[in-house]
Parts: sequence; C-alpha cells; structure tokens
Amino acid sequence: MVKYFLRKKVGGRVVNGHPWVFANELGDQDGEAKAGDIVEVYSYNGSFIGKGYYNHESQIRIRLLTRDKDEQIDNAFFHKKIKEAWEYRQTLGYVENCRLIFGEADGLPALIIDKFNDYFVIQTLALGIDIWKGAIVDALQKIFKPKGIYERNDVPVRELEGLEQKKGFLTEPFDTNIIINENGLKFHVDIENGQKTGYFLDQQDNRREIRNIVKGANVLEAFCYTGTFSLHAAHYGAKSVLGLDISEKAVATATSNAVLNGHENICKFEAVNAFDALKTWTKEGKEYDVVMLDPPAFTKSRANIQKAITGYKEINLRGMKLVKPGGFLVTASCTNLVPPDLFIEIIQMAAKDARRQLRQVSWQTQAADHPILWHVPTTEYLKFLIVQVL
Ligand code: SAH
Repeated sequence: MVKYFLRKKVGGRVVNGHPWVFANELGDQDGEAKAGDIVEVYSYNGSFIGKGYYNHESQIRIRLLTRDKDEQIDNAFFHKKIKEAWEYRQTLGYVENCRLIFGEADGLPALIIDKFNDYFVIQTLALGIDIWKGAIVDALQKIFKPKGIYERNDVPVRELEGLEQKKGFLTEPFDTNIIINENGLKFHVDIENGQKTGYFLDQQDNRREIRNIVKGANVLEAFCYTGTFSLHAAHYGAKSVLGLDISEKAVATATSNAVLNGHENICKFEAVNAFDALKTWTKEGKEYDVVMLDPPAFTKSRANIQKAITGYKEINLRGMKLVKPGGFLVTASCTNLVPPDLFIEIIQMAAKDARRQLRQVSWQTQAADHPILWHVPTTEYLKFLIVQVL
C-alpha cells in the first residue's frame, strides 16, 4: 500500500482526529497512488496515523477511514460502519426516518445517506467514496431490505473531485414520490426532484420545539419549502398559518401536505419572494403572533460571507418587524460558514435596527441524527433559535 508522510510542522489536527489531509500537508511518499486508492498516512517521524482514500484532483488529498492499521477497507468495512450508524440512530430514538450516514461524523467522509422509512437516498461526494457505491448499496440491502435506493449525486461539489453530476436508481426503479411520518404528521417527499435529498431531516427535532408558542396563534412562515414547520404549527394548535416559498413546486407540495393532514383550512401557501412580501406587509402594518424563518445558506463560500450576513440580517429584521409585541420569532441558519456566535450577533444587529428587545426561548442545533464531532468543526452547521420579541 502506498504510504504518505505528513510534513514536519503539520499534523496536529489530523493526529487529533480530523479525517482530512490537505495537499499542502503532505511531504514524502513511498509509491504512487491512483485516484481512489486506499493509502496509509504516517506522521513526519513515521508513526502510523491512519488509512484513507486518495485523490490527486482534490485539495483534500486524503480522507481517512480508519486509524486501525489492521482494519481492512473492504465491503465488510462499509457494512460494519453502516450497521453501527443505524444502531446509534436507534439508540437516539429514531425509528422511521433519519440521516443514517452524516459523512465525517460517521467515519465515512463525503458519504450521505438519508433513510425515509423503506427508501434510501445516497450522495457520494468524493471520488474515493463513490467507487465504494456498490459495497454501500449491498450493505443497505443486507441490513434493511429496502424498497428502493436512489442516488442524488446532482451536486456541484462532486466536480471538485473530477466526478460528474448525476441522479438515478441504484435498485429496481420505484415510485419516487413517497410519504413519510414525522411527529404525528405525514409529508410527501419527492426523492427524485425535491431539494437536496428530498426532505430536510436536520430540522426534525426542532419542528417539535414550536409546540408551546403556536397555540391559538396567527403564524407566518417564510422559506417554508414543503410546509413542514407550517404543518407542525397547525398540528400544535395554531389558528392560521401562511407559508411562503419562492418555488412554485414547493408550494404545491406544501398545499398537498396540508390536505394530507386535514389542515387545509388552517394552512395556506403562496409562491412569492419572501424578501419582497415581508417588506410590503411591514409597510401595510400586518402583524403575526409567530414568524418563522428558515432561509437558504445565501452563500457557499467563505469569500462571500458578507452576502450571507447581509441576507440573514435583512430577513430577520423584516421578520421581527412583523411580530406583535410579545410574540415569537423562530429563526434558523443552515450553513457552517456562519458560526453560532456570528448568527447571534446578526440577530442582535437586526433587533437593534428593528428597535426591539429579545428574550431567548430556545437555542438548538441540527437534529441528533446529524451528529456534531467537536474535532471536526464543519459538522456543526445548523443554528435554530426561538426568541420572544418584546
Ligand atoms: N424549512 C424548510 C426548509 C427550507 S429550505 C424545511 O424544514 O423543510 C429554504 C427554502 O427557501 C427553499 O424551499 C427555497 O425554495 C426557499 N427560498 C429561497 N429563496 C427564497 C426567497 N427569496 N423567498 C422565498 N423562498 C425562498
């Protein structure tokens, strides 16, 4: 097996558990690896660190899969890792739906698997994991006997690895419009054409957090996608709910979700730009008991971080202005480029501009099926805040 040695002055991060080895951290090598090969990584002084997959096309040259020199990376390895990840999700109380594999946090860098009852959606976001797709599908077949497995590799990040974007069936074709259960509600999930893997499981624990603040409330949800928070609001006793999303398709699904749950008289959805709608309604003096915001990332790169800050501040300012005194703002941010302290700072800036004071009700992160590794900071990405707006 080809051996790579870290340079003298680097390695602390990798030695302490981070699975990525960047191109500029590598020094000597013994042999020449091909893209996708499993290689061994050693420190400068020759002590074994781990084994992982190599890709010379990627700035992340090696992603470690094991720190055990005797562990073989083979089909059995993937079976064991996926089984362990499922046992962990079950320990945490997930039964039907979960993020089964959250990449680095499950020791399988660049692999995402979402479980939607009997169906599985896979993303292999690096070459070195992509070539194990057969083994991964095989393990899922053996452990779960699923009704279907689908690949949502229509993700631009794959191109950094020299991989094409694609999507399609990894089992016999099946109806990709499925229904899942969550917190006593039912939701349509479009595995083939929905956003990301079809459904945002990372908010599944947070959706329950609104249960006490929405009783009898008039609720506005912006960036509602398929109406998941809106439906939860109705389920927990809201008087009326209006959900907004710029995507016509998302709004159509949200409306079907309202019907599916018998809340079509409470929940209404509109396809509009939330920035414009919130601005207009503030001018018109509209008010809501609860405003919920779960906008997209606004940026994908650190270089554009200011764009994200401006976007989050703007939408939270507009959202806050629509909250009745003593009402609640539910707000989230889904990018690891905005760390928790920066997000809080942005919300504080918005409150100052809106001339409102905030009282914190709840401060959470992503659902526990998306584990956070403290030594891999990028695994923490979701911020979820409920405040009372005084
Ligand atoms: N809360 C949702 C996920 C929201 S994802 C859930 O838990 O399922 C962000 C959503 O914002 C997407 O559905 C996207 O279509 C929508 N969006 C992006 N820009 C928008 C805009 N300017 N106005 C309204 N919706 C927008």
